[in-house]
Amino acid sequence: MSAPTDAAQWYPLRRVEDRARELADHYAEVVGTRPTGVWAAPGRVNLIGEHVDYNDGLCLPMALPQNTLVAAGTRGDGRLVAHSAQRPGEPVEVALADVGPGRPPGWGGYVAGAVAMLLDGAEGLGRNDFGLTAMVDSDVPVGAGLSSSAALSCSTILAADDLLGTGWATDDGGRGRLVDACVRAENEVAQAPTGGMDQAAALRCTAGHALLLDCRDGCVEQVPFDLVAHDLALLVVDTRAEHSHSGGEYANRRAGCEAAARDLGVASLREVVDAPLDETLNRLSDNALKPLVRHVVSEIGRVRDVVDLLRAGRVREIGPVLDASHVSLRDDYRVSAKELDLAVYTARVAGALGARMTGGGFGGSAIALVPADAATEVAEHVHASFTAARLRPPGFLLAQPSAAGHRVL
Ligand code: ADP
Ligand code: MG
Repeated sequence: MSAPTDAAQWYPLRRVEDRARELADHYAEVVGTRPTGVWAAPGRVNLIGEHVDYNDGLCLPMALPQNTLVAAGTRGDGRLVAHSAQRPGEPVEVALADVGPGRPPGWGGYVAGAVAMLLDGAEGLGRNDFGLTAMVDSDVPVGAGLSSSAALSCSTILAADDLLGTGWATDDGGRGRLVDACVRAENEVAQAPTGGMDQAAALRCTAGHALLLDCRDGCVEQVPFDLVAHDLALLVVDTRAEHSHSGGEYANRRAGCEAAARDLGVASLREVVDAPLDETLNRLSDNALKPLVRHVVSEIGRVRDVVDLLRAGRVREIGPVLDASHVSLRDDYRVSAKELDLAVYTARVAGALGARMTGGGFGGSAIALVPADAATEVAEHVHASFTAARLRPPGFLLAQPSAAGHRVL
Protein backbone atom coordinates (compact mmCIF):
# COMPACT_ATOMS: atom_id res chain seq x y z
CA MET A 1 0.00 0.00 0.00
CA SER A 2 1.28 3.47 -0.84
CA ALA A 3 1.57 6.02 1.96
CA PRO A 4 -0.83 8.98 1.56
CA THR A 5 2.14 11.30 0.95
CA ASP A 6 3.01 9.26 -2.13
CA ALA A 7 -0.32 9.93 -3.85
CA ALA A 8 -0.66 11.98 -7.02
CA GLN A 9 -0.73 15.71 -6.26
CA TRP A 10 -3.80 17.54 -7.67
CA TYR A 11 -3.87 21.31 -8.04
CA PRO A 12 -6.78 22.66 -5.98
CA LEU A 13 -9.70 24.30 -7.77
CA ARG A 14 -11.88 26.74 -5.81
CA ARG A 15 -14.97 28.69 -6.81
CA VAL A 16 -13.86 31.82 -8.67
CA GLU A 17 -16.42 34.02 -6.86
CA ASP A 18 -15.00 33.00 -3.45
CA ARG A 19 -11.44 33.68 -4.57
CA ALA A 20 -12.46 37.04 -6.05
CA ARG A 21 -14.19 38.14 -2.83
CA GLU A 22 -11.13 37.24 -0.76
CA LEU A 23 -8.85 39.07 -3.19
CA ALA A 24 -11.05 42.20 -3.03
CA ASP A 25 -10.91 42.09 0.79
CA HIS A 26 -7.13 41.74 0.68
CA TYR A 27 -6.90 44.68 -1.74
CA ALA A 28 -8.97 46.80 0.68
CA GLU A 29 -6.65 45.92 3.57
CA VAL A 30 -3.47 46.78 1.67
CA VAL A 31 -4.64 49.77 -0.42
CA GLY A 32 -7.16 51.28 2.01
CA THR A 33 -10.07 51.47 -0.49
CA ARG A 34 -12.24 48.79 -2.12
CA PRO A 35 -11.25 47.82 -5.69
CA THR A 36 -13.67 48.90 -8.43
CA GLY A 37 -13.90 45.29 -9.62
CA VAL A 38 -12.21 41.91 -10.06
CA TRP A 39 -11.42 40.48 -13.52
CA ALA A 40 -10.38 36.93 -14.47
CA ALA A 41 -8.53 35.37 -17.42
CA PRO A 42 -7.86 31.63 -17.77
CA GLY A 43 -4.80 29.52 -18.47
CA ARG A 44 -5.01 27.17 -21.47
CA VAL A 45 -3.94 23.87 -22.93
CA ASN A 46 -3.45 23.40 -26.62
CA LEU A 47 -5.37 20.29 -27.70
CA ILE A 48 -3.37 20.02 -30.93
CA GLY A 49 -1.42 22.22 -33.36
CA GLU A 50 1.99 22.66 -31.72
CA HIS A 51 4.79 24.84 -33.04
CA VAL A 52 2.63 25.88 -35.97
CA ASP A 53 1.55 29.37 -34.83
CA TYR A 54 4.69 31.05 -36.18
CA ASN A 55 4.18 29.16 -39.45
CA ASP A 56 0.78 30.82 -40.02
CA GLY A 57 -0.80 27.46 -39.11
CA LEU A 58 -3.88 26.25 -37.25
CA CYS A 59 -4.04 25.46 -33.56
CA LEU A 60 -6.80 24.32 -31.22
CA PRO A 61 -6.40 25.61 -27.65
CA MET A 62 -9.03 25.56 -24.92
CA ALA A 63 -9.34 27.63 -21.75
CA LEU A 64 -8.75 25.95 -18.38
CA PRO A 65 -11.01 26.34 -15.35
CA GLN A 66 -7.92 27.74 -13.57
CA ASN A 67 -7.51 31.49 -13.93
CA THR A 68 -5.68 34.60 -12.85
CA LEU A 69 -7.64 37.24 -10.94
CA VAL A 70 -6.87 40.95 -10.88
CA ALA A 71 -8.60 43.21 -8.37
CA ALA A 72 -8.12 46.77 -9.59
CA GLY A 73 -8.94 50.42 -9.18
CA THR A 74 -7.88 53.57 -11.00
CA ARG A 75 -5.41 56.16 -9.69
CA GLY A 76 -4.77 59.70 -10.86
CA ASP A 77 -0.98 59.81 -11.13
CA GLY A 78 -0.24 57.89 -14.39
CA ARG A 79 1.42 55.09 -12.45
CA LEU A 80 0.89 51.36 -12.20
CA VAL A 81 1.22 49.80 -8.75
CA ALA A 82 0.80 46.02 -8.56
CA HIS A 83 1.15 43.18 -6.06
CA SER A 84 0.92 39.43 -6.69
CA ALA A 85 0.26 36.60 -4.25
CA GLN A 86 2.59 34.51 -6.43
CA ARG A 87 5.41 37.06 -6.14
CA PRO A 88 5.32 38.09 -2.45
CA GLY A 89 7.81 40.82 -1.62
CA GLU A 90 8.14 41.83 -5.28
CA PRO A 91 5.71 44.74 -5.70
CA VAL A 92 5.81 46.66 -8.98
CA GLU A 93 5.61 50.43 -9.28
CA VAL A 94 6.25 52.27 -12.53
CA ALA A 95 5.15 55.39 -14.41
CA LEU A 96 3.22 54.14 -17.46
CA ALA A 97 5.09 56.69 -19.59
CA ASP A 98 8.34 54.87 -18.70
CA VAL A 99 7.18 51.38 -19.74
CA GLY A 100 9.41 49.96 -22.50
CA PRO A 101 11.63 46.99 -23.43
CA GLY A 102 12.56 45.27 -20.15
CA ARG A 103 10.98 48.14 -18.14
CA PRO A 104 9.71 47.24 -15.61
CA PRO A 105 11.71 44.00 -15.36
CA GLY A 106 10.25 40.65 -14.29
CA TRP A 107 6.56 39.95 -13.83
CA GLY A 108 5.64 43.64 -13.84
CA GLY A 109 6.36 43.72 -17.58
CA TYR A 110 3.25 41.64 -18.33
CA VAL A 111 1.01 43.90 -16.24
CA ALA A 112 2.45 47.32 -17.07
CA GLY A 113 2.99 46.29 -20.71
CA ALA A 114 -0.67 45.34 -21.14
CA VAL A 115 -1.93 48.66 -19.75
CA ALA A 116 0.62 50.70 -21.75
CA MET A 117 -0.24 48.92 -25.03
CA LEU A 118 -3.96 49.46 -24.46
CA LEU A 119 -3.37 53.18 -23.89
CA ASP A 120 -1.15 53.38 -26.99
CA GLY A 121 -3.91 51.83 -29.10
CA ALA A 122 -6.85 53.76 -27.66
CA GLU A 123 -7.78 56.94 -29.52
CA GLY A 124 -7.46 60.20 -27.62
CA LEU A 125 -5.73 58.65 -24.61
CA GLY A 126 -2.11 59.00 -23.54
CA ARG A 127 -0.06 57.16 -21.00
CA ASN A 128 -0.37 60.03 -18.50
CA ASP A 129 -4.17 59.90 -18.58
CA PHE A 130 -4.64 56.74 -16.52
CA GLY A 131 -3.15 54.92 -13.57
CA LEU A 132 -3.96 51.54 -12.07
CA THR A 133 -3.59 49.79 -8.73
CA ALA A 134 -3.77 46.00 -9.13
CA MET A 135 -3.73 42.99 -6.83
CA VAL A 136 -3.10 39.63 -8.54
CA ASP A 137 -3.85 36.07 -7.46
CA SER A 138 -3.75 33.00 -9.70
CA ASP A 139 -4.43 29.28 -9.54
CA VAL A 140 -2.83 28.68 -12.95
CA PRO A 141 0.47 26.89 -12.24
CA VAL A 142 3.21 29.41 -13.11
CA GLY A 143 5.81 28.37 -15.68
CA ALA A 144 4.14 24.99 -16.39
CA GLY A 145 3.37 25.66 -20.06
CA LEU A 146 -0.26 26.40 -19.16
CA SER A 147 0.06 30.07 -20.04
CA SER A 148 0.04 31.83 -16.70
CA SER A 149 1.77 34.73 -18.47
CA ALA A 150 -1.13 35.38 -20.87
CA ALA A 151 -3.62 34.83 -18.03
CA LEU A 152 -1.80 37.67 -16.24
CA SER A 153 -1.56 40.12 -19.15
CA CYS A 154 -5.13 39.35 -20.30
CA SER A 155 -6.79 39.69 -16.88
CA THR A 156 -4.97 43.00 -16.45
CA ILE A 157 -6.01 44.34 -19.85
CA LEU A 158 -9.65 43.38 -19.17
CA ALA A 159 -9.51 45.42 -15.96
CA ALA A 160 -7.93 48.41 -17.73
CA ASP A 161 -10.36 48.19 -20.68
CA ASP A 162 -13.33 48.27 -18.33
CA LEU A 163 -11.97 51.00 -16.05
CA LEU A 164 -10.87 53.21 -18.96
CA GLY A 165 -14.18 52.77 -20.74
CA THR A 166 -12.55 51.66 -24.01
CA GLY A 167 -14.98 48.71 -23.97
CA TRP A 168 -13.07 46.56 -26.46
CA ALA A 169 -13.90 43.40 -24.49
CA THR A 170 -17.60 43.70 -25.28
CA ASP A 171 -17.32 42.02 -28.70
CA ASP A 172 -15.07 39.43 -30.33
CA GLY A 173 -13.53 41.91 -32.76
CA GLY A 174 -12.51 44.16 -29.87
CA ARG A 175 -11.17 41.15 -28.02
CA GLY A 176 -8.96 40.49 -31.05
CA ARG A 177 -7.49 43.99 -30.53
CA LEU A 178 -6.88 43.19 -26.85
CA VAL A 179 -5.09 39.99 -27.95
CA ASP A 180 -2.79 42.05 -30.18
CA ALA A 181 -2.06 44.51 -27.34
CA CYS A 182 -1.17 41.64 -24.97
CA VAL A 183 1.07 39.99 -27.58
CA ARG A 184 2.93 43.29 -27.94
CA ALA A 185 3.17 43.60 -24.14
CA GLU A 186 4.75 40.15 -23.88
CA ASN A 187 7.04 40.49 -26.91
CA GLU A 188 8.14 44.09 -26.50
CA VAL A 189 7.96 44.80 -22.77
CA ALA A 190 8.32 41.41 -21.01
CA GLN A 191 10.53 40.35 -23.94
CA ALA A 192 9.08 36.85 -24.09
CA PRO A 193 8.60 35.36 -27.58
CA THR A 194 4.93 34.44 -28.07
CA GLY A 195 2.89 33.84 -31.19
CA GLY A 196 -0.59 34.86 -30.02
CA MET A 197 -2.28 31.51 -29.32
CA ASP A 198 -2.16 31.94 -25.53
CA GLN A 199 -3.72 35.40 -25.56
CA ALA A 200 -6.42 34.35 -28.05
CA ALA A 201 -7.33 31.40 -25.79
CA ALA A 202 -7.50 33.62 -22.70
CA LEU A 203 -9.72 36.20 -24.39
CA ARG A 204 -11.75 34.37 -27.10
CA CYS A 205 -12.58 30.83 -25.86
CA THR A 206 -16.12 29.82 -24.93
CA ALA A 207 -17.16 27.16 -22.40
CA GLY A 208 -17.66 23.68 -23.86
CA HIS A 209 -15.56 24.47 -26.92
CA ALA A 210 -12.02 24.38 -28.21
CA LEU A 211 -10.92 27.41 -30.21
CA LEU A 212 -9.82 26.83 -33.80
CA LEU A 213 -7.38 29.67 -34.36
CA ASP A 214 -6.07 30.43 -37.82
CA CYS A 215 -2.75 32.08 -37.09
CA ARG A 216 -2.54 33.46 -40.67
CA ASP A 217 -5.33 35.98 -40.17
CA GLY A 218 -6.36 35.68 -36.49
CA CYS A 219 -9.81 34.28 -37.40
CA VAL A 220 -11.39 31.93 -34.87
CA GLU A 221 -14.13 29.30 -34.87
CA GLN A 222 -15.68 27.62 -31.84
CA VAL A 223 -15.47 23.81 -32.06
CA PRO A 224 -17.74 21.80 -29.71
CA PHE A 225 -15.69 19.75 -27.24
CA ASP A 226 -18.08 18.17 -24.77
CA LEU A 227 -16.02 15.83 -22.62
CA VAL A 228 -18.76 15.16 -20.06
CA ALA A 229 -21.30 13.99 -22.64
CA HIS A 230 -18.79 11.40 -23.85
CA ASP A 231 -17.75 10.26 -20.32
CA LEU A 232 -14.26 11.56 -20.97
CA ALA A 233 -11.78 13.75 -19.13
CA LEU A 234 -8.69 15.61 -20.25
CA LEU A 235 -5.93 15.01 -17.71
CA VAL A 236 -3.15 17.60 -17.58
CA VAL A 237 0.23 16.54 -16.21
CA ASP A 238 2.57 19.35 -15.17
CA THR A 239 5.90 17.51 -15.31
CA ARG A 240 7.61 20.26 -13.26
CA ALA A 241 10.66 19.70 -15.46
CA GLU A 242 13.05 22.63 -15.75
CA HIS A 243 13.30 23.93 -19.29
CA SER A 244 16.30 26.23 -19.14
CA HIS A 245 17.30 25.81 -22.82
CA SER A 246 13.83 26.27 -24.26
CA GLY A 247 14.38 29.91 -25.36
CA GLY A 248 17.36 29.07 -27.59
CA GLU A 249 15.73 25.90 -28.94
CA TYR A 250 12.53 27.80 -29.77
CA ALA A 251 14.51 30.43 -31.69
CA ASN A 252 16.42 27.66 -33.48
CA ARG A 253 13.24 25.81 -34.62
CA ARG A 254 11.63 29.06 -35.66
CA ALA A 255 14.68 30.06 -37.71
CA GLY A 256 14.69 26.57 -39.30
CA CYS A 257 11.08 26.99 -40.44
CA GLU A 258 11.84 30.43 -41.86
CA ALA A 259 14.85 29.05 -43.75
CA ALA A 260 12.70 26.21 -45.15
CA ALA A 261 10.01 28.65 -46.29
CA ARG A 262 12.67 30.79 -48.04
CA ASP A 263 14.10 27.69 -49.70
CA LEU A 264 10.62 26.72 -50.95
CA GLY A 265 9.92 30.27 -52.14
CA VAL A 266 6.88 30.80 -49.92
CA ALA A 267 6.08 33.37 -47.25
CA SER A 268 5.31 30.70 -44.65
CA LEU A 269 5.05 26.89 -44.43
CA ARG A 270 1.26 27.26 -44.34
CA GLU A 271 1.42 27.74 -48.09
CA VAL A 272 2.69 24.20 -48.72
CA VAL A 273 0.26 22.25 -46.50
CA ASP A 274 -1.99 21.26 -49.40
CA ALA A 275 0.87 20.17 -51.71
CA PRO A 276 2.03 16.50 -51.68
CA LEU A 277 4.44 16.25 -48.74
CA ASP A 278 7.01 14.09 -50.56
CA GLU A 279 7.33 16.62 -53.36
CA THR A 280 7.76 19.46 -50.88
CA LEU A 281 10.46 17.58 -48.98
CA ASN A 282 12.30 16.73 -52.22
CA ARG A 283 12.45 20.41 -53.12
CA LEU A 284 14.34 21.27 -49.92
CA SER A 285 18.07 21.69 -50.47
CA ASP A 286 18.98 21.22 -46.78
CA ASN A 287 18.17 17.73 -45.47
CA ALA A 288 18.28 18.95 -41.87
CA LEU A 289 15.15 21.01 -42.53
CA LYS A 290 13.06 18.07 -43.75
CA PRO A 291 11.89 16.79 -40.34
CA LEU A 292 10.86 20.33 -39.34
CA VAL A 293 8.73 20.75 -42.45
CA ARG A 294 7.29 17.24 -42.07
CA HIS A 295 6.17 18.11 -38.53
CA VAL A 296 4.61 21.46 -39.41
CA VAL A 297 2.74 20.18 -42.46
CA SER A 298 1.52 16.97 -40.80
CA GLU A 299 0.55 18.79 -37.59
CA ILE A 300 -1.67 21.26 -39.45
CA GLY A 301 -3.30 18.22 -41.11
CA ARG A 302 -3.87 16.68 -37.68
CA VAL A 303 -5.57 19.87 -36.45
CA ARG A 304 -7.99 19.60 -39.38
CA ASP A 305 -8.58 15.90 -38.58
CA VAL A 306 -9.34 16.62 -34.91
CA VAL A 307 -11.71 19.46 -35.82
CA ASP A 308 -13.59 17.16 -38.25
CA LEU A 309 -13.85 14.42 -35.61
CA LEU A 310 -15.07 16.82 -32.91
CA ARG A 311 -17.66 18.35 -35.23
CA ALA A 312 -18.90 14.83 -36.03
CA GLY A 313 -19.16 14.04 -32.29
CA ARG A 314 -16.49 11.32 -32.63
CA VAL A 315 -14.56 12.61 -29.62
CA ARG A 316 -12.91 9.31 -28.60
CA GLU A 317 -11.35 8.99 -32.04
CA ILE A 318 -9.10 12.00 -31.54
CA GLY A 319 -6.90 9.82 -29.26
CA PRO A 320 -4.69 8.34 -32.01
CA VAL A 321 -4.28 11.79 -33.56
CA LEU A 322 -2.95 13.12 -30.23
CA ASP A 323 -0.52 10.17 -30.12
CA ALA A 324 0.72 10.93 -33.65
CA SER A 325 1.27 14.57 -32.71
CA HIS A 326 3.47 13.54 -29.80
CA VAL A 327 5.59 11.23 -31.97
CA SER A 328 6.05 14.01 -34.53
CA LEU A 329 7.08 16.53 -31.85
CA ARG A 330 9.43 14.01 -30.23
CA ASP A 331 11.11 12.53 -33.31
CA ASP A 332 10.81 15.14 -36.08
CA TYR A 333 10.65 18.45 -34.25
CA ARG A 334 12.71 17.20 -31.27
CA VAL A 335 11.15 19.42 -28.61
CA SER A 336 10.05 16.76 -26.12
CA ALA A 337 11.80 15.82 -22.87
CA LYS A 338 12.20 12.57 -20.95
CA GLU A 339 9.58 13.70 -18.41
CA LEU A 340 7.05 14.44 -21.18
CA ASP A 341 7.75 11.11 -22.89
CA LEU A 342 7.35 9.25 -19.61
CA ALA A 343 4.04 10.99 -18.79
CA VAL A 344 2.67 10.27 -22.27
CA TYR A 345 3.86 6.65 -22.34
CA THR A 346 2.59 5.83 -18.84
CA ALA A 347 -0.77 7.50 -19.43
CA ARG A 348 -1.25 5.42 -22.60
CA VAL A 349 -0.30 2.17 -20.86
CA ALA A 350 -2.65 3.03 -17.96
CA GLY A 351 -5.65 3.41 -20.26
CA ALA A 352 -5.54 6.85 -21.91
CA LEU A 353 -7.12 6.98 -25.39
CA GLY A 354 -4.35 9.30 -26.54
CA ALA A 355 -1.71 11.59 -25.06
CA ARG A 356 0.80 14.21 -26.12
CA MET A 357 3.07 16.94 -24.87
CA THR A 358 1.42 20.36 -25.05
CA GLY A 359 3.00 23.81 -25.27
CA GLY A 360 6.50 24.62 -26.43
CA GLY A 361 8.15 21.52 -24.96
CA PHE A 362 11.49 20.77 -23.20
CA GLY A 363 9.42 20.47 -20.02
CA GLY A 364 6.05 21.93 -19.14
CA SER A 365 2.89 19.84 -19.44
CA ALA A 366 1.36 16.84 -21.19
CA ILE A 367 -2.31 16.04 -21.81
CA ALA A 368 -4.07 12.69 -21.85
CA LEU A 369 -7.60 11.95 -23.05
CA VAL A 370 -8.97 9.41 -20.56
CA PRO A 371 -12.29 7.73 -19.72
CA ALA A 372 -13.71 9.97 -16.96
CA ASP A 373 -13.78 7.19 -14.39
CA ALA A 374 -10.12 6.32 -15.06
CA ALA A 375 -8.62 9.81 -14.55
CA THR A 376 -7.53 9.19 -10.95
CA GLU A 377 -6.02 5.83 -11.77
CA VAL A 378 -4.09 7.17 -14.77
CA ALA A 379 -2.76 10.03 -12.60
CA GLU A 380 -1.63 7.56 -9.93
CA HIS A 381 0.24 5.51 -12.53
CA VAL A 382 1.97 8.57 -13.94
CA HIS A 383 2.87 9.69 -10.41
CA ALA A 384 4.30 6.25 -9.60
CA SER A 385 6.36 6.18 -12.80
CA PHE A 386 7.93 9.55 -11.90
CA THR A 387 8.72 8.31 -8.38
CA ALA A 388 10.30 5.15 -9.78
CA ALA A 389 12.43 7.24 -12.17
CA ARG A 390 13.45 9.53 -9.27
CA LEU A 391 11.87 12.54 -10.94
CA ARG A 392 10.07 15.37 -9.12
CA PRO A 393 6.41 14.44 -8.54
CA PRO A 394 4.18 15.94 -11.25
CA GLY A 395 1.11 18.11 -10.58
CA PHE A 396 -2.29 17.13 -12.01
CA LEU A 397 -5.45 18.92 -13.01
CA LEU A 398 -8.51 18.21 -15.14
CA ALA A 399 -9.10 20.52 -18.09
CA GLN A 400 -12.76 21.38 -18.72
CA PRO A 401 -13.16 23.66 -21.77
CA SER A 402 -13.93 26.93 -19.97
CA ALA A 403 -14.92 30.51 -20.72
CA ALA A 404 -12.59 33.32 -21.76
CA GLY A 405 -11.66 36.16 -19.44
CA HIS A 406 -14.46 38.27 -17.93
CA ARG A 407 -15.38 40.46 -14.99
CA VAL A 408 -16.15 38.44 -11.86
CA LEU A 409 -17.07 41.13 -9.29
P1 ADP B 1 3.70 30.00 -18.54
O1 ADP B 1 3.03 31.10 -19.30
O2 ADP B 1 3.73 28.72 -19.29
O3 ADP B 1 3.16 29.80 -17.16
P2 ADP B 1 5.94 31.76 -18.82
O4 ADP B 1 7.39 31.59 -18.57
O5 ADP B 1 5.49 32.18 -20.17
O6 ADP B 1 5.23 30.40 -18.36
O7 ADP B 1 5.36 32.83 -17.81
C1 ADP B 1 5.67 32.77 -16.43
C2 ADP B 1 5.98 34.18 -15.95
O8 ADP B 1 4.77 34.97 -15.97
C3 ADP B 1 6.44 34.24 -14.50
O9 ADP B 1 7.84 34.07 -14.41
C4 ADP B 1 6.02 35.64 -14.09
O10 ADP B 1 6.93 36.61 -14.57
C5 ADP B 1 4.72 35.83 -14.86
N1 ADP B 1 3.53 35.43 -14.06
C6 ADP B 1 2.60 34.53 -14.41
N2 ADP B 1 1.62 34.45 -13.47
C7 ADP B 1 1.95 35.30 -12.50
C8 ADP B 1 1.34 35.70 -11.25
N3 ADP B 1 0.20 35.15 -10.82
N4 ADP B 1 1.97 36.64 -10.52
C9 ADP B 1 3.12 37.20 -10.93
N5 ADP B 1 3.73 36.86 -12.09
C10 ADP B 1 3.18 35.94 -12.87
MG1 MG C 1 3.68 31.97 -21.13
